[in-house]
Amino acid sequence: MDYYPEPIENLISEFAKLPSIGKRSAERLAISLVFEDDDKVNSFIEAIRLVKSTVKQCTICGNLTDGEICSVCSDRSRNGKLLCVVESVKDLIAIEKSGEFRGKYFVLGNLLSPIKNLELSDIVIDKLKNRVKDGVEEVILAISPTIEGEMTGIFIKEVLKEFDVVVTKIASGIPVGGNLEYFDGDTLFKALEDRREI
Ligand SMILES: [Zn+2]
Repeated sequence: MDYYPEPIENLISEFAKLPSIGKRSAERLAISLVFEDDDKVNSFIEAIRLVKSTVKQCTICGNLTDGEICSVCSDRSRNGKLLCVVESVKDLIAIEKSGEFRGKYFVLGNLLSPIKNLELSDIVIDKLKNRVKDGVEEVILAISPTIEGEMTGIFIKEVLKEFDVVVTKIASGIPVGGNLEYFDGDTLFKALEDRREI
């Protein structure tokens, strides 16, 4: 049975669809909006609209940008010979927050996963090959050391074997099964520094 008027029940169910928002948090958020000033609610709505209408993925690396090319790709001071391959934008941001990596990135979007029936699409593979062709000397796999991550690393190494490029992966220090985004900058930095060839 619904305890709230229908518009509030709708809003609760919309909030509950968001990641990490449980039913109780969704309820709290929805109710808090009822008592919020119109101005605040409107600027919240506007912020969501703006994100949806302006932010997209960089056509080169997959990072988020409100232009065509992201700030990392357009930064000429960064080393284009070093290409760090990550699963997601969240992982890219985690490495950026560590503050020390001065190369460029490539976002895969997902890892290989037979269980979830996920593959790396031909579009992603072709894009990666084109990046590597373009003067990359080292590809650093900064992928979570899960089974999927290991499989993806082996697959990428295989895909890139036709190129004269060194493939490395970040060191342990990231526990097996750990997700990069949850590690602090120092741990990530150390893992990047201690990378080894595969
Ligand atoms: Zn980019």
